[in-house]
Amino acid sequence: MDFTALSAIDIQEQVAAGKASAEEVLNGYLDRILKTDTAVRAFLTVSPDRALEQARRIDRMAANGELLPRLAGVPVAVKDAILTRGIRTTAASKILQNYVPAYDATAVRRMEEAGAMIVGKVNCDEFAMGSSTENSAYFPTRNPVDLTRVPGGSSGGSAAAVAAGMAALALGSDTGGSIRQPAALCGVVGMMGTYGRVSRYGLIAFASSLDHIGPFGRTVRDVARLLGVIAGHDRLDSTCASAAVPDYEAALNNGIDGLRVGVPEEYFAGLSPEIGDNIQAGIDLLAKLGCRIERIRLPHTNYAIACYYIIATAEASSNLARYDGVRYGHRHAEYKDLREMYDKTRDGGFGAEVKRRIMLGTYVLSSGYYDAYYLKAQKVRTLIARDFLEAFDDVDIIVTPTSPLPAFKLGEKLNDPLQMYLADIYTVTASLAGIPGLSVPCGLTKSDPRLPVGMQMLARHFDESRLLRVAHAFEKAGGFEVA
Ligand code: GLN
Repeated sequence: MDFTALSAIDIQEQVAAGKASAEEVLNGYLDRILKTDTAVRAFLTVSPDRALEQARRIDRMAANGELLPRLAGVPVAVKDAILTRGIRTTAASKILQNYVPAYDATAVRRMEEAGAMIVGKVNCDEFAMGSSTENSAYFPTRNPVDLTRVPGGSSGGSAAAVAAGMAALALGSDTGGSIRQPAALCGVVGMMGTYGRVSRYGLIAFASSLDHIGPFGRTVRDVARLLGVIAGHDRLDSTCASAAVPDYEAALNNGIDGLRVGVPEEYFAGLSPEIGDNIQAGIDLLAKLGCRIERIRLPHTNYAIACYYIIATAEASSNLARYDGVRYGHRHAEYKDLREMYDKTRDGGFGAEVKRRIMLGTYVLSSGYYDAYYLKAQKVRTLIARDFLEAFDDVDIIVTPTSPLPAFKLGEKLNDPLQMYLADIYTVTASLAGIPGLSVPCGLTKSDPRLPVGMQMLARHFDESRLLRVAHAFEKAGGFEVA
């Protein structure tokens, strides 16, 4: 049987019913990685030993007649910005080239406890900074639907691994769109919960007030399952919410008739028809399913990119100060004093984009500029969050494009960082507001019917259930024609 074509839930059911062994499933996926990843290059490290140990544990449980857990026998890939005990974790940076964590991220531990098999660590932009995975210090990952194009980023390896059937599920991280945007560009489902819904313990910090760990899957139901496994209170992350985790899967079929769907004007001004036509077809489909479509305003949207790139770089400059050659990873070999050791380690260890952000962040936090940039950005962040709160007085969910562009060619935007930043326009707002968002496939572009388009859906804080329910109904109804 070809397990690589099954959903995670189907795999779990096969294993739980004794129709397949976890080891068989694992071998199917490792084989697929061997055959496919020479072209896609999603993996930085494959971890067959750890996966095999887990597969055998699951198969022993099955042999003993034990009830198998929710992800039993499901192969998962983990973004290399998330710590895995005993497995090299680099954040796709040279500065962590040889870093082997002593502990697992909470999300990783919970997945394994739920029976998942970790097949490897996947590529991303260095320290999750980027939108194409081209900022990886090692190599770029390619989009499985067209190998000349980027998979999006920063969690491009996670999206590509799932899209290419090299993992049934993946973990990524999202600070300003890094799960939703690559999901859109690779044609899979990706979700960021409410800030604090999933523990950040063991996530290599980029911008702590914006960072999330979240799931990728090929179906909404798979994503609901993985979110249910990793979400919930964790005493190791003081910003992690203690709110109870609902049964996300149980609510999936509750229907969406009469739901109020907001369409924000600001997200459609200047949108190319290549994306816009698909999103419009998606909105029409939601209307056909019984939703009431309402035009809304999110008036501070225009300031979101500037606001995000001030706050994210400020936090990054502080978070990345720890990579000094003393405490973590790489240290430059020759130096005459401590100062030179820091300089050479950081200069050689960080790539261009990471350095650009450390400099930008240090600048906006420096005395004399702090008020003009950082403090101002914090105020704008509040206004952006308030836009959403007010909009949710009138609507239940908001739908937008996930990305203004489909997957672009490798190299196309690499030398123009500002162009790359502007591509984050639709995703950074929800990150600044701390609300949950997901991207669900919304057809293929008319001009190139290989390239997927993603529709972003946003909801109130902790309203993940509703988000998943709408996405599930949308996915089930799918298959629409783009006029
Ligand atoms: N593309 C955005 C950035 O470069 C978002 C990255 C992310 O979410 N980690 O910062």
